[in-house]
Amino acid sequence: MFARILRGEIPAEVLHEDEHCLAFLDVTPQAPTHFLVIPKREIATLSDATPQDEGLLGHLLVTAANVAKQLGVDEDGSRIVINNGAGAGQTVFHLHVHVLAGRTLAWPPG
Ligand code: AMP
Repeated sequence: MFARILRGEIPAEVLHEDEHCLAFLDVTPQAPTHFLVIPKREIATLSDATPQDEGLLGHLLVTAANVAKQLGVDEDGSRIVINNGAGAGQTVFHLHVHVLAGRTLAWPPG
């Protein structure tokens, strides 16, 4: 699914792209601002990440923060989520970082 977005076969509202990752708006937003950051290299779940992925995972988080700044939603806070596995609600098995902002976000999450 996300591989098809990376290949340009499915349209997406792209917010940021670089050599290692792509950030785009979530098609079913759960907050006024909801975007995803995905690695270009496919890793199915966070549990599949290896020590070689440490730099890439850090890059995804820094990109998430930078895109939130670019959108002007960083000052009021944002929720960064990785659903890791079906039991945690993961439905697309290409690792992705959710960034949600623009509303009050309850804790604990549902
Ligand atoms: P998760 O449940 O953590 O696997 O999250 C998958 C996310 O991908 C959901 O929030 C979906 O709304 C989002 N999604 C699925 N297909 C697309 C798409 N074509 N473009 C943008 N977001 C998508």
